[in-house]
Order: sequence, then C-alpha cells, then structure tokens
Amino acid sequence: MKKSHFGAALFAALCLILCSCAQTPDEYSASFFAMDTIMSISAYGGNAEEGVKSAVQRINELEKLLSVTDEKSDIYAVSHNGSTEVSKETAELIAFALDIAEKTDGALEPTIYPVLNAWGFTTNNKRVPTTEELNELLKKTDHTRVSVNGNTVNLDKDMMLDLGAVAKGYAGDETERILRENGVTSALINLGGNIQLIGSKPDGSDWRLGLKDPAGAGNVGVLTVSDCAVVTSGNYERSFTADDGTVYGHIIDPESGYPVDNGLLSVTVVAKEGKLCDALSTALFVMGADRALEFRRSNGGFDVILITDDGEILITDGIADKFTLDAEHSHLSVKAITE
Ligand code: AMP
Ligand code: MG
Repeated sequence: MKKSHFGAALFAALCLILCSCAQTPDEYSASFFAMDTIMSISAYGGNAEEGVKSAVQRINELEKLLSVTDEKSDIYAVSHNGSTEVSKETAELIAFALDIAEKTDGALEPTIYPVLNAWGFTTNNKRVPTTEELNELLKKTDHTRVSVNGNTVNLDKDMMLDLGAVAKGYAGDETERILRENGVTSALINLGGNIQLIGSKPDGSDWRLGLKDPAGAGNVGVLTVSDCAVVTSGNYERSFTADDGTVYGHIIDPESGYPVDNGLLSVTVVAKEGKLCDALSTALFVMGADRALEFRRSNGGFDVILITDDGEILITDGIADKFTLDAEHSHLSVKAITE
C-alpha cells in the first residue's frame, strides 16, 4: 500500500474506533479488558458517559482487590499471610461467599484455590494431578475454617481463597449501582458473559440474550428479559484436553478435587442480583441437575436454565415463557419445571 493510502486507511480505522464510541448525550458504550475477560457496557439516559467511565474505573479497582495473582490484592494477602485485615468490600464479598458455601453444603467452595492451582488453571500450566496429590490438597480446602470478623478475615495459614466464582457478579452489581446513580435508565452490562440489565431496551422492548450452546458454537436459543442479571457457568469455558483426550474444565467438585463431570453442560441463573446469580450458577453446576432443582425448590428467589448432556433444556417457571429455542437446535427438548 502507498504511504498516502496507508495514512488514509489508518485515519479511517481511527475514525471507526472513535465512532464506535461516538455517543449522543444520553447514550454511551465502552468495551475493555478486565478480570481476565472482555467486558462491554452500553448505557442510555441520564449521565451515561460519566456513569460508564466511573463503572469501568470501579471494575479496575475491584480487580486490584480481588485478583488471586496480583501480589498487592486483598485476596493475595489473605492467601499468603493468613488472618489479615482487608478492605470493607472484600470482607463483605468473602462473607457472602461463605454464606452461599454454607447454604450449598460446600458446592461453592471459596477455599478451592490450592486444588485449582494444582490443575494449572490459574498459571496456565495445565496438568492432571494424581488422586493422592488432590486428596492432600483437599485437606486445605474447607470454608467452615474461614471466618470474617469486621474487616478481618481469619483462616489457617496453609489455606487460600478464590473469589473467581463471584467477583464478576459483584462487579456487575457495582456497575449497575453506579449507572443508576448517574441517572441511567437502560443498560446492557456484559462482563465476560455475565449479563446485567438495567430496565428494558431504550425502545421499551425486552433485551434479547443469546443462550450459548455449551456443546458447540452459536446459541441454543434466545432469552427475552429485562431488569435482571443472567449468569452462566459451564465447564466448556477455560477447559483443556489432556494427552488421553479427556477434557477437564475449570469448575471443581470440592468433594473429589476433580473438574465437575455430572451430566450438566451449563447452568444459567436469572435473578435481580449479579453476585447471587454468579455464586449460584457455579454452585448449582457442581450440584448436578437433581440437587440443583431441589435447592431451587427449597430456597426460591431465582430462576434457572439447565442444559444436560442428554439433550434436555430444563427451565423453571419464572422464565419458561421467555425462552425461544433456536430452529437449528430443535433436536433438544425444552422442559418447563413447574414445581
Ligand atoms: P464461574 O465461571 O463463575 O462458574 O466461576 C468459576 C471459577 O470459580 C473458576 O475459574 C475458579 O476460579 C473458581 N472455582 C472453581 N470451582 C469452584 C468451586 N467449586 N467453588 C468456588 N469457586 C470455584
Ligand atoms: Mg459463578
């Protein structure tokens, strides 16, 4: 390409980047990388630009507090120094994770980090540990041996925390709070697949969210919803294939130390609060379909979509009529769960 043409092309490309964010006064969008994933926020109404910029700043702040690898983070301090004082929001999020861990009988296990690390999910050094090694590491995982007192987190010195199962959900709640404080009346917040919605679309219709096919590319269908959080967990994300062809995913069954393998391909939780959706999507994925539906019957307050490896999509009654199966996935059977 001639130099002048290259210059023109570069100018056009720059315009495109800027124009993709060119905004009317009450509309603003941003895409960015944080918490190890791609995030985007589109906000409408009020002071949308100020709201989105403050939310991005808040997410970056939260990443610094909650990262397992950043040596300056609260979580790193707790995991490496034993009992430690942390910031108020870290203490509250740990207390929340411990509460869900208790309610789910340890399916959510915020102390799973030593096991996760042995599989190399955090270091990108993926390997298959031996059962003996996992059994040793499981001795260091037990949420009942962690407590939060004010802003002080107490735990044994050899234990480590990982809030990876709830951090993005909490970041979604914080983003929603900041956007609402800035007068935003409509927003689509997508934090690496964790969706949080403020109101409906600017034209008043519901948002249309594609539900990912955990067994392939594309979506199994569309969920039409407003004003809620929608969070999916599945072992198809961040998985690796061992030499013998076995695929291992990043969500660990805290009973065995092995990646979950219970017939569920994905769990989507729909409720008002992002951190609840995030915590429960991980925990219900660990529990498997029967225990997950039993947990929902006894606790309520949220809806779920479970996709199983035998071609079923189980949807609870609060959202059953909001889901439309994709025509190319008509081999899957959709079942509404009414109790
Ligand atoms: P999510 O994508 O929200 O389901 O969270 C998965 C992340 O949570 C993993 O990448 C780990 O960091 C962490 N994790 C894996 N297994 C568990 C578990 N049983 N309980 C709590 N956190 C877990
Ligand atoms: Mg989660």
